Amino acid sequence: MADREVDYLLIGGGMAAAHCASTLRRRGADGSILLVGREPHVPYERPPLSKEYLRGEIAEQETYVNGGEWYDENRVELLTETSVMSLDAGERTAKLQTREQVRFGKALLGTGARVNILHHLEGARLDGIHYLRTLGNSDAIREEAKVAGHVAIVGGSYIGSEVAASLTRLGVECTMVMLEEIVLSRTFGAEPGRYFHEVLESHGIEIVGGEELDSFVGDERVRAIRTKSGREIECAMVVIGAGVHPETMLAERGGLAVDNGVTCDAKLESSAEGIFAAGDVCSYESVIHGRRLRIEHWDVALQQGQHAAKGMLGETKPYRVVPYFFSDLSDWASLEYVGPAEKWDELVWRGTPDSGKFLVWYLDGGRVAAALSVGRSEDLEQARRLLESGADVMTQKDALRDVDSDLEAVGSS
Ligand SMILES: Cc1cc2nc3c(=O)[nH]c(=O)nc-3n(C[C@H](O)[C@H](O)[C@H](O)COP(=O)(O)OP(=O)(O)OC[C@H]3O[C@@H](n4cnc5c(N)ncnc54)[C@H](O)[C@@H]3O)c2cc1C
Repeated sequence: MADREVDYLLIGGGMAAAHCASTLRRRGADGSILLVGREPHVPYERPPLSKEYLRGEIAEQETYVNGGEWYDENRVELLTETSVMSLDAGERTAKLQTREQVRFGKALLGTGARVNILHHLEGARLDGIHYLRTLGNSDAIREEAKVAGHVAIVGGSYIGSEVAASLTRLGVECTMVMLEEIVLSRTFGAEPGRYFHEVLESHGIEIVGGEELDSFVGDERVRAIRTKSGREIECAMVVIGAGVHPETMLAERGGLAVDNGVTCDAKLESSAEGIFAAGDVCSYESVIHGRRLRIEHWDVALQQGQHAAKGMLGETKPYRVVPYFFSDLSDWASLEYVGPAEKWDELVWRGTPDSGKFLVWYLDGGRVAAALSVGRSEDLEQARRLLESGADVMTQKDALRDVDSDLEAVGSS
């Protein structure tokens, strides 16, 4: 016997759940909504945690998706600091950390992702080793970095690059250590990555590429990191950006299909009818890409949260949005990316890196697989169109390259 019943149970207090709640109300859902999140805060945006918030430029409240009063005003019951412990898809019940059992009509899994912790390495438990996912993590990094002196940042993806840029802005000396030779090259390739690499170096960040972390050195507190090649980098603090993995435990235990994320169809509905997933945890059948995707981007969590709400209200359209990503390296460089490209065989540059304003087309078999923009946001709409249409642009590469060409004419026969 359930302790209580709700029409909509939204699990996870992040972007996906918050936007699902607001879309439900905006679209006229009148039933009861319960949003349950593990963290102590109202749902907030994570991108500022490595940018403005980390640099102390904005207050905590400015990261909130909706102000605290929004939930009361919109009759959304918000339970913070509460985990959902188990899910029974057949009985349509969930057990909360409070021991309460909730019966639901429809549910959202917006449980996000967890950072990969390098606990297998020697010295992994030393003080001064940080990961970044929450407001609390960002606070701790900012406070400690102020007095630390030299910070080692492990990882060359966007978290490592953004943290290095923000801490350098705060006057902290940073060394980045990473497996790849060039920052951001895993997603964008070596040539475009080199642009960001040089931006970081030009602001005094030391970048040590091609090195695998072996261990952390210190007694109680970390005082250096050691790489597999034997190189030792002294530091008073370490920040690690080694990727994330989807938080699927609840779904798995509840008997839902899980692959790399909660397995959903093109509508974002899981293997259990009426239970949807959105955001970092959602592995969905992309009708645009013709393959399964799981995307860890702010905009995707937002859009999928909204789409799942529409699905709960009976819409059956597939989720059809080209994934969009942005990143800022302090105010030195901003990038935007639509994709993702699984692979590419040619890069076409529209503009040059020296001008600090360019778009890189990622072509695969003559079709647009992705586009990376620095200062050319105006081209992204056409990039989305070309990616979605799958048009053959092989014979129109000059137009893609020419900064003065009208992209609307490309790909339309
Ligand atoms: C520092 C940082 C910077 C970023 N910058 C960018 C950027 O510049 N651009 C970009 O596109 N993306 C960026 N991202 C990624 C983006 O923030 C994420 O893709 C987005 O937050 C995903 O939202 P979500 O709602 O799916 O998951 P999350 O934001 O992870 O929220 C999930 C929530 O569910 C909670 N939860 C999990 N399990 C349970 C449970 N059983 N019961 C209750 N609650 C549970 C978690 O504690 C968490 O609070 C950044 C991420 C980080 C960490």
